[in-house]
Amino acid sequence: MRSVPKARQGSRSSNASSLSRRTLLTGAGALAAGAMAGFGIRPLWANPISLSDGEVQVFSDGNLGLPMNFILPEQTEAEIAALMEPHGLSTTMLTPDCNVTLLRRGDRIALFDVGSGSNFQPTAGELLSGLEEAGVDPSDITDVIFTHAHPDHLWGVLDEFDDPVFSEARYLVPQAEWDYWMADDTLANMPEERKSFVVGAQSRFEAISDQVEMINPGQEVFPGVEALDTSGHTPGHTSYMIHDGSESLLVLGDAISNAVISFERPEWHSGSDQDREKGAQTRKSLLDRLANDQSRIIGYHLPNPGIGRAERDGTAYRFVAES
Ligand SMILES: [Zn+2]
Repeated sequence: MRSVPKARQGSRSSNASSLSRRTLLTGAGALAAGAMAGFGIRPLWANPISLSDGEVQVFSDGNLGLPMNFILPEQTEAEIAALMEPHGLSTTMLTPDCNVTLLRRGDRIALFDVGSGSNFQPTAGELLSGLEEAGVDPSDITDVIFTHAHPDHLWGVLDEFDDPVFSEARYLVPQAEWDYWMADDTLANMPEERKSFVVGAQSRFEAISDQVEMINPGQEVFPGVEALDTSGHTPGHTSYMIHDGSESLLVLGDAISNAVISFERPEWHSGSDQDREKGAQTRKSLLDRLANDQSRIIGYHLPNPGIGRAERDGTAYRFVAES
């Protein structure tokens, strides 16, 4: 019998390093300011979902604060208002939750992404608190499986001494994602406001390189878990289908990232996608597939705990959350 998850105020103080904080403040001032708007209350962990041979449990890493003009740079204010206002949502700021999936199967425990750690936004970086409350020691994690290398998914891999947090784990990284972030010209080609993403990804990948195994789409990366190419958000973005007999559950990562925008306007270009057109193509084909096969999904940024299904709604879709 598990205790009821404890709600926590998402306003923990930040001990962000001055370098990362300064990079954010100068390079993306609006992003940093947005972080302050994102105080919310959510449980640090959700009740587990039973599989035939294991269980899935979602942990919260807190939330981000993102200005709408960063997320939807190509839409007019009127278009954004027409979409968001009927849902009672802000037209100027998004405060997406960050949902980290844990999978227990046999004697292994996998985490899909590891949250932001303490150096990105002050409202994020809650994962280790939730694991501790649920009685999971970081050294219990046998596999860390990455969807992509953005700060809110990767930066939590190192502790305050820059040592890997999950000391006993193997780290599974999509080969295309590793190749992109580690390439010589990636930093030079990145827009100024996101250069810190490159520096951050490279330093973390280097720190865990002894424990990294490269993976590719189509591969079974963990018992019953299949890697799926969902590139567009980043060049090597990968989602993971957890098979459970005839059922399946897809860990989306950021391939579908907002419960309203991504479902109702999947064709709109997202400013958070590095290849906006490819991101939209991936989103549309994934939604079509999910609406057909009715797989359960876990979205990293869908409303905590981010579990539900995609349903068709006219020519678009809607997210049906599982309570
Ligand atoms: Zn993300």
